[in-house]
Amino acid sequence: MSIEDELRQRAEHKCELCSASDELGVFTVLPSSGASASQNVLICSTCTQKIEHPEKMDVHHWRCLNDSCWTPEPAVQVMAWRLLTRLSANEGWARDLLDQLYMEDDVLAWAKAGMEPSEEPAIIHKDANGAVLCAGDTITLIKDLPVKGAGFTAKRGTAVRNISLVFDNAEHIEGRVSGQQIVILTKFVKKSA
Ligand SMILES: [Zn+2]
Repeated sequence: MSIEDELRQRAEHKCELCSASDELGVFTVLPSSGASASQNVLICSTCTQKIEHPEKMDVHHWRCLNDSCWTPEPAVQVMAWRLLTRLSANEGWARDLLDQLYMEDDVLAWAKAGMEPSEEPAIIHKDANGAVLCAGDTITLIKDLPVKGAGFTAKRGTAVRNISLVFDNAEHIEGRVSGQQIVILTKFVKKSA
């Protein structure tokens, strides 16, 4: 059985987002490879077009998500979550729906992985004064920091060169102090000029 046949069976020959029954096609839910039916959705050409041209966000059409977001099918959940996230910038109902959705962690991670970076809340690292920190910067500690597990204190005034940023936590950077790579809270550092 082809993937499309499998999907048609799963979707009962209807668009998995808006329930339309004509011009259905297979749409791969990136960044998965689409190699199995569970990584694809069956959607109509109208939905496909609207997804591929998000600048023409059609709020009225996407009211269909009110129903389709409750699907047990992870691939469809992912599509619904992404669309609702885009819509929620302007639409209260989409925000409410997003709040109510329950998704397994791995499904949520999949949904997030396919969003444009600009749509993710940006993680920006700032020092104690609000200056933006970049990887490779030199910072100075503004407080004595006991280093857990390492048995020493990183002294106030210590310069740390070539820091790296913890990509998923705006409050953490990493740097080498006394030969050890440690995590440092951004609120305890000052960027060196
Ligand atoms: Zn559709």
